[in-house]
Amino acid sequence: MYPPFLTFDTHIDIPWPEKTPEGLPVWERTDETERTSLWDANTKRRFTIPKARMGGLTSVCLTAYSPQGPLTDEGHQAAWKRVNAMLQAICSIPQEAPEGESVSLCIKADDIIQTVSDGGISITPVIENGYPLGEDPARVAFLAQSYGVRYITLTHNGHNLLADSAVVKGGEITKHGGLSSLGREVIGEMNRNGVLVDISHGAVETMMQAVTCSAVPVFASHSCVRALCDHPRNLTDRQLEVLADAGGVVQITAMSPFLKRGGGGTLEDLMAHIRYAVELVGVEHVGISSDFDGGGGIKGWVDASETAHVTQALEKAGFDKSEQQALWGGNMLRLLAQAELYKTR
Ligand SMILES: [Zn+2]
Repeated sequence: MYPPFLTFDTHIDIPWPEKTPEGLPVWERTDETERTSLWDANTKRRFTIPKARMGGLTSVCLTAYSPQGPLTDEGHQAAWKRVNAMLQAICSIPQEAPEGESVSLCIKADDIIQTVSDGGISITPVIENGYPLGEDPARVAFLAQSYGVRYITLTHNGHNLLADSAVVKGGEITKHGGLSSLGREVIGEMNRNGVLVDISHGAVETMMQAVTCSAVPVFASHSCVRALCDHPRNLTDRQLEVLADAGGVVQITAMSPFLKRGGGGTLEDLMAHIRYAVELVGVEHVGISSDFDGGGGIKGWVDASETAHVTQALEKAGFDKSEQQALWGGNMLRLLAQAELYKTR
């Protein structure tokens, strides 16, 4: 059983963490000069704790993101340093909470449920892009044990050593024809360490092969429906069916260009994608994510303070309470628990 209104947003970016001369953390977006705080409601940042409180957003995956760089030792080392720094910043958030605010780092599904039952906000650390792993699958265990990383998005835009990306950044259309042998080895390590495989950003072949390669259902942390919006980042009906048949989940995301050709996506468009996916593969294989501070945010769900609008829209779309809870994190919690079970088998 989940507590009433556990809302679990599975993909939120964090800005590059900086420190003031006094050693206090400051969060700076690379695309904005404004310095923003996670504890401030009055900031351009779409996700902050006060905004989450305002909107009733209870649980989030915060992602340590690496842009795709050169496939060289130097490139991999720089990305490894960056991802470690970002994960340290994510893991230190609860210690920075002001008096009276309760924020917890939650690694297991049960911890998320407990934190929300107790009135807290849960943060789960994750990684977007397997690029920082370089050629070393053992880094998966290190990340899981050191920071509690619960999913890794195999690729970002551009192929890496693990797999082909849906979005080609110059050069060849395909590098590995899906997963590389290193990518398969990494998925095995992810399974053994309770880390879920995120196929968002992956090429079609990458996704299809990951489904059969992984011992635990794979999922898409932030993708939409290709039939409604022809974008290479979106999943075709066939992909959605294969994902669902294997027990996976697609977390439909509030990213305007994925919702509507030409952009300008709204909450109604988000609901249209959710409804389509639910009708095609069933409510137990669909969820929700914002991609806030990574390009996400739409009219009606512009930032975390408007999260209640999403729940209202689900209600209006005719989803009953248990369906709303399944979409709002129940399905994702099931996947996390499955990965935990496989790890301890
Ligand atoms: Zn992304």
